Amino acid sequence: MKKILLSGVKPTGKAHIGNYFGAMRQFADRQDEYRQFIFIANYHALTSVSDGALLQKLTLDLAMDYLAIGIDSKKTTLFLQSDVPEVTELAWVFNTLTTVPYLSRAHAFKDAEAKNKEVNVGLFDYPILMAADILIYSADVVPVGLDQKQHIEIARDTAQKFNRVFGDTFKIPEPMILENVKTVPGTDGRKMSKSYGNTIPLFGTNEEIKKAVMSIPTDSKGVEDPKDPKECKVFAMHELFPGDELEALRARYLAGGIGYKESKDLLVAKIINFITPMRTRREEIAQNPEAVLKILKEGGEVARAEAQKKVQEVREKVGLI
Ligand code: AMP
Repeated sequence: MKKILLSGVKPTGKAHIGNYFGAMRQFADRQDEYRQFIFIANYHALTSVSDGALLQKLTLDLAMDYLAIGIDSKKTTLFLQSDVPEVTELAWVFNTLTTVPYLSRAHAFKDAEAKNKEVNVGLFDYPILMAADILIYSADVVPVGLDQKQHIEIARDTAQKFNRVFGDTFKIPEPMILENVKTVPGTDGRKMSKSYGNTIPLFGTNEEIKKAVMSIPTDSKGVEDPKDPKECKVFAMHELFPGDELEALRARYLAGGIGYKESKDLLVAKIINFITPMRTRREEIAQNPEAVLKILKEGGEVARAEAQKKVQEVREKVGLI
């Protein structure tokens, strides 16, 4: 029996290369090794998108992105979170076991509060819905970026608490975080994030990619000055593409003789080179949205059948029969 891998992405904006290198790439790379459930977290997206037509568009876009990066619907169950309403039932049961002080310690909630944002109950409860997503399919591993690590810990705590109170029911999942891409930097050096406006879109045009890279701030060192690669936000992005070329570039930085303009030009070329085949595939996929919807529908049926079994077990254990 293959181990189970599960992950999801919120359809809240264009997928960016931080999503790709930090998480999505692993979904395509691991599908022979694991039994995979990959979903579009549209219930989660409702915590920040309040425009039905927009959410529909972003959802279909993300489904096309998943297929374009190489997710094969014959190997991976690809589906919409909302096609499995049982996750909201399970989240409710988990809510009744979770305390307010415990969830108040979640980073996403604390950050929103610190910025004086109005926090909706859905955002506060986000980690519990995520716990339900993970635990309902008995996932063994969850590939995510570092920003989601705490949420996996919350899923683990929730499973352990349920098991303690009602008897052994849920498998304890493990995060799968790739060390070298756990936090992909954005054009301003902070974590690349849709909410910071510092992203490079995964399927951006050449012009968009160029514009984003050229906007990366650098210091005032001249071409001949030696430069510390660790201090350079452009170099930090080069590190997404490890190999001999990267090491040669590192040596040139340290020796002096490369200017930031040249480094940026090289980076633009690398990103475009990397993205082009996926972008071409995505254009083909976008020709036939009906086929994409069919994949989602069929995936939803498979996922729901799994989820229903688990929720039935929960209903019996907690006494909802
Ligand atoms: P989200 O867009 O928040 O739904 O994130 C989708 C996935 O991408 C999650 O697994 C995140 O942890 C991951 N992710 C988002 N931004 C980054 C980043 N800058 N570096 C690494 N992983 C990221």
